[in-house]
Amino acid sequence: MTQYKYILEEKDLPTHWYNVIPDMKTPPPPYRHPATLDLLGPDDLAPIFPQALIEQEVSQERLIEIPDEVQDILKMWRPSPLYRASRWEKVLDTPAKIYYKWEGVSPPGSHKPNTAVAQCYYAKEEGLEGFATETGAGQWGSALCFATQIFGMKCKVFMVTISYHQKPYRRIAMETWGGTVVPSPSSETKAGRDILAVDPETSGSLGIAISEAIEYAVTHDGWKYSLGSVVNFVLLHQTVVGLEAMKQMEMAGDYPDILIGCVGGGSNFAGLFLPFIKDKLDGTKPALRVINVESTACPSLTRGLYAYDWGDTAKTGPVVKMHTVGHGFIPAPVHAGGLRYHGMSPIICRLLEDRFVEARAYHQNTVFEAAQSFARAEGFIVAPETAHAIKAVYDEAMACKESGESKVILFNNSGHGHFDLEAYDSYHLKRLPDFELEDTKIQKALEELPQIPE
Ligand SMILES: *Cc1c(COP(=O)(O)O)cnc(C)c1O
Repeated sequence: MTQYKYILEEKDLPTHWYNVIPDMKTPPPPYRHPATLDLLGPDDLAPIFPQALIEQEVSQERLIEIPDEVQDILKMWRPSPLYRASRWEKVLDTPAKIYYKWEGVSPPGSHKPNTAVAQCYYAKEEGLEGFATETGAGQWGSALCFATQIFGMKCKVFMVTISYHQKPYRRIAMETWGGTVVPSPSSETKAGRDILAVDPETSGSLGIAISEAIEYAVTHDGWKYSLGSVVNFVLLHQTVVGLEAMKQMEMAGDYPDILIGCVGGGSNFAGLFLPFIKDKLDGTKPALRVINVESTACPSLTRGLYAYDWGDTAKTGPVVKMHTVGHGFIPAPVHAGGLRYHGMSPIICRLLEDRFVEARAYHQNTVFEAAQSFARAEGFIVAPETAHAIKAVYDEAMACKESGESKVILFNNSGHGHFDLEAYDSYHLKRLPDFELEDTKIQKALEELPQIPE
C-alpha cells in the first residue's frame, strides 16, 4: 500500500532548536559596525534587536530550549506533515524517491511564523510594544502581523512598493491581523525620503525597506526591529522544520541523498538542511548533497562576491560577510518569483565557501513550468519562491531517470502560492520574460562594497 504522508503528533514537536555554529569547520566571521566598520559588539545591536535574540545570534550552545509558550503556539499547525510525492514521481516516470516537508499549513501559509512567534515571545518578555519590519512579497509581513497580534503587540510593515501594488491581498491579510502597512520607500522615514528625492518612481527593494524599518524602530520608544531571514537566530528558529523531518524520514525508512530548497535569505532551506548537515560535518554522511536554489534575477550565491556588505541600502544595519550582489541592488520589476534579497545567510555562505553545500540559479519560466507540473500531480500550488526548489527537484529526478538510480530527494515546500496566482497567470499568458542580470550591473553594485581594514 502506498503511504503518502508521515504525520507526527503534537507531543513529537521538537523541544530544542539546533544551533549549527559549534559544529561548523569555520564559523561565519563576526558582524561589523555600519559606520565605523569595526567589529560589532552585542551593545551595538541592542537598539535594534531584543536582547535574547542577540544572545542566540552568537550562542555556542548546540541545543537551545524552545520556551513552552512558543511550543504551545507552534502547535497551532506543527508538527507539519512530510509527504512522499508518489503521484509526481509517476508522472515524471523517475526511479527517484521524492519527499517534501509541507510548511504551507501555517495560518499565514509559509515557514515564516516559526521564527515570528519566537521573536515576539522574546520581545514581549522584554516589555516591547511593537515590531517594525520590511516585507517583499508580503509573506514575512503577514507572519509577523499574525504573531505580534497573538502577543498583543503592534506591527508596522514597510512593504516594497511594487509588491504593495501587485499583491493587495497580502496587505489585507496583514491588516486583518492588526498590522499597519505602508509602501516603501515611504515619506515616513529619512531613508525613504532620501530615496524618493532621487527616484520618485522607484519600485523599491528589500534593502530600502529594511533601512526604513530599522529607522522606525530606533526612533520609536518601546519598538524594535524584526528580521525574517538571513541572520543566525532566524535560521535557528527554523530548525524545527529539519528536526521534525528527520523523525519523519525515519518513519519512512529512508535517509536523503539530496536535500533541496529555495533561498532568498536562506531561512526555510537552512531550517530543513542544518539538522541533516550535522551528519556531513561530522563525516557520518559524506555523500549528502545540499542544493541551494536561487533566481537568475538575484543570483547572490552563484554570481555574487563573498565579501562584507551592508545588509540594507541606507547602510544602517550590520555589515555582514556574505555572498552579495551589492546593497544598492534593485531587482528587475519583471521578476515574479520572489527571492529578491541582495545578500544571503552568513551561515549558508560559509558552508558554500567550504563546499559543504552547492548553489544553482534558474530562470522564472522554467521554474513555473516545474511548479505547474507539481500542482497537477500533487495538487498544491506552491509559492513562486518554492517553485525554484521544485525545478531543481525536477532536474535531479530526471537525472535519476537517465542514470537509473533511485536516489532519495527531500525538499522543503516552504509555502503556498494562493496570493501569487497573478504570477501563474503571467506564466500562462507567456508574459514572463526570462531575465539575466547583466554583469555590468553586478560589477557596478559591487564597487560600492565597504573597504574593511584587515
Ligand atoms: C520568504 C519565503 C522564502 C524565501 O526566504 P528564505 O528566508 O530564503 O526562506 C521562500 N519561500 C517562501 C514561501 C517564503 O515565504
